[in-house]
Amino acid sequence: MKHEARLRRLRTSLPESNLDFLLVTHLPNVRYLTGFTGSAGALLVGERDAILFTDGRYRTQARQEVRNARIAIASQAPSLAAAEWLAGLRSRSAPRTLGIEAESLTARARDRLAAALRGKAKLRSAPPLIERARMVKDAAEVGLIRKAVKLGASLFDVACKTIRPGVREVEVAAAMEYEARRKGAEGMSFPTIVAAGARSAIIHGRASPARLPRRGFVVCDFGVILAGYCSDRTRTVHVGKPSQQARDFYGAVLEAQLAAIAAVRPGVTTGQVDEAARSVLRKWKLGRWFTHSTGHGVGLEIHEAPRLAAAQTQKLEPGMVVTIEPGAYVPGKWGVRIEDVVVVTPSGCEVLSPEDKDLVVL
Ligand code: ZN
Ligand code: ZN
Repeated sequence: MKHEARLRRLRTSLPESNLDFLLVTHLPNVRYLTGFTGSAGALLVGERDAILFTDGRYRTQARQEVRNARIAIASQAPSLAAAEWLAGLRSRSAPRTLGIEAESLTARARDRLAAALRGKAKLRSAPPLIERARMVKDAAEVGLIRKAVKLGASLFDVACKTIRPGVREVEVAAAMEYEARRKGAEGMSFPTIVAAGARSAIIHGRASPARLPRRGFVVCDFGVILAGYCSDRTRTVHVGKPSQQARDFYGAVLEAQLAAIAAVRPGVTTGQVDEAARSVLRKWKLGRWFTHSTGHGVGLEIHEAPRLAAAQTQKLEPGMVVTIEPGAYVPGKWGVRIEDVVVVTPSGCEVLSPEDKDLVVL
């Protein structure tokens, strides 16, 4: 039912975008509209038609998962099969403009598509209609993200039990990922980040064979996929007794994160949320060390719209699900990041799994 409503909404937005058909090739979008979870598929959407082209491997799965589109089993690339189907329409009903998702097509795939259409339709890059719809989650999606975040959050306990001087970063990540799978996760939303000591200043420091030092920060950034939806969370702990300077550094990042969370409510722009975090770090003279954006949307993909970054004008709306993750990183010395997933509510936001964020010393 939810898929049907999403597809209906997309159909009504096609004429406004001057498109007769839209070829959906970005697989998370195909999943969003139909429930299809296979790795080969292209969904052709017109005002009346919705046809999912896939290949023989997915014959059974597509029939089980998809209720709101016809299924066509193709012996070639699904998008080409869709183009040939369009080219074969009788001229009276022939399409004039076929929208494509340019970001998910290679230049070669676009050329092939144009050739298969045999001049019967023009290709046009479509506006991000589905990405825009996906920004605002329905209640069922929020429920699924809530479950994913809860499972993801529980991995931090495993990290805390595993972290001690001399243990390798990859061992910490392995323990967390094993626990995730054991608890039912389909996989991790991205390669787990465990970055210790000077490596904590590397923003995307994937767990490496490096051993944890006797003393220093350990940044753990991790997420799971559950029922298709992603979680994302960062906690930074300290091994050994932290210096006052380390405590202050952590405290400034936490203050920035709390300020950004407090700024989240409908009508506020994502740029304003970013500024809320950034201004706190500037106040503590750490602004120059905050070198990434404050957050991103999360859902079927780990990074999706909207972006929470400087000067962004997208306004927040109830139902948006975003991360709030400021950080500060002094190269060669240390780094701290703290990240939660929040749901925008009519009056502000709800932090999912809002456990205590005081500095954990192990
Ligand atoms: Zn993260
Ligand atoms: Zn994130």
